[in-house]
Amino acid sequence: MSDVSESELTFVKSRKGADQLVHNGYIFQHEKERNGKRIWRCILYSKANCRGRVHTVGATVKEIKVHNHEPDEDEIIVRRCLGEITERAKAGPDYARNIVLHGIRYVTKNSCYEKLPTWEQLIDHVERVQQRQGFKIMRIPPLSRERLACSPGYDNKYF
Ligand SMILES: [Zn+2]
Repeated sequence: MSDVSESELTFVKSRKGADQLVHNGYIFQHEKERNGKRIWRCILYSKANCRGRVHTVGATVKEIKVHNHEPDEDEIIVRRCLGEITERAKAGPDYARNIVLHGIRYVTKNSCYEKLPTWEQLIDHVERVQQRQGFKIMRIPPLSRERLACSPGYDNKYF
């Protein structure tokens, strides 16, 4: 994704780290290239049998097939949060807890918390990424109640 005009598009990361296109509340995975166009299909292609597709030329997005479901803004927020956590974990050694807390600041709606992995899963994820990067795992004692109050949704559930 080095094309300058393409940088105006919005992407989130897949679980495996691939760029997925965000457009009008939907998320698309790259399917193929054809005649200078990139064809993207809805990430619910298999799960919901959705035929939603767009193609892009540079920063221009054109819808070519409609979805069979509503857009899901929560999913985009959650993906952004998880992407941020992974990128930060790769960036350099830090406490997993700080990285997760930083990431979940992107989650501004309570409805998103149902879609997030548990706190423990997020910490495990960060530590796995850090291990792959060869970073030393840094651990500190649990957070105080006051600090937790800054993290709605996680305040009583995961600490
Ligand atoms: Zn769809």
